[in-house]
Amino acid sequence: MLAVVKDKAAPGVVLKDVPKPIPQKDEVLVKVKYASICGTDIGIYDWIPWAASHIHPSKIIGHEMVGEVIEINSDKETKIKPGDLVSSETHIYCLNCYQCEIKNYHVCENMQLFGIGRNGAFAEYATIPLKTTWKNDPSIDPEVMSVQEPLGNAVNVVTKAEVKDKRVLIMGLGPTGLCAGGAAKAYGAKEIVGINDEPYRRELADKTGWFDRTEEKLDPSEYNSYDVVLEMSGNRLGIEIAFEAVRIAGKLIAFGIPKENISVDWGKFMINKELSIESVFGRQIWKTWHQTTELLKSGKVDLKKIITHHFPLKDFEQAMAVMKSRKAGKIVLEP
Ligand SMILES: [Zn+2]
Ligand SMILES: [Zn+2]
Repeated sequence: MLAVVKDKAAPGVVLKDVPKPIPQKDEVLVKVKYASICGTDIGIYDWIPWAASHIHPSKIIGHEMVGEVIEINSDKETKIKPGDLVSSETHIYCLNCYQCEIKNYHVCENMQLFGIGRNGAFAEYATIPLKTTWKNDPSIDPEVMSVQEPLGNAVNVVTKAEVKDKRVLIMGLGPTGLCAGGAAKAYGAKEIVGINDEPYRRELADKTGWFDRTEEKLDPSEYNSYDVVLEMSGNRLGIEIAFEAVRIAGKLIAFGIPKENISVDWGKFMINKELSIESVFGRQIWKTWHQTTELLKSGKVDLKKIITHHFPLKDFEQAMAVMKSRKAGKIVLEP
């Protein structure tokens, strides 16, 4: 079968023919219907330090997906049946560590990441551990199912931020930043402002109707004025502005992963501003997935608004080039 493979510890990927996977014990085999490119996949492609410390080549990449269940290799009781459309929770937890014991599965101490630490879904077939297989609600558009994982990240960010009746600033309007706008609107934020220096992304955000306004830069007159700042960019400048923008005793949620070490004026921000700072790494299992399903089913968030491109899997390089140009929302691949 055709697959996108990180075959060596260096930038780039290869498209090649690999054997169809065989589901191991307590795994499901799925025929991938759609997969979408994540910001993380850019980091893997470019071989940033985070990727280098998480991937041991060779691995099939790609973690945002929907596929049809072909086979289940398990005698455990499960509601998943052949023919179901399922997605994969990227954070594969161990069930043996302290975090798993307290049901904090998404930050498992021995976590393996789908499409990163093990083979993923930019391929015709993939295997997923049964415990991280999510049965989709069949009323949701299958293409949207492949994009719900980043919406899940945004939902977890926005839930932690407690945005109801708050003024919310979103740093970065990549797909997860856009989704954060949708989730913040659905959860009753009073005002939602998005920041991005790329005009394409601001236009896309404006078209969603989720943002009250978008700006290239935050005007310094707005520093210290936002109840909540969602740092979705992972960009050094974005992070600096996030600390400036949040009001005294406000809340900052860190989500974007920077490519470099970030320094913070500890006294000015952490002490004098008395901020609440929380971070988010992934979705709560399965609470966030239920929330995401509710937003999609009810139509409160229409993810079709941010799906901007489609490519056959064989044109992965072309799709990645578009993704890296930042002139894209979500890009959906079809094997
Ligand atoms: Zn992702
Ligand atoms: Zn664990």
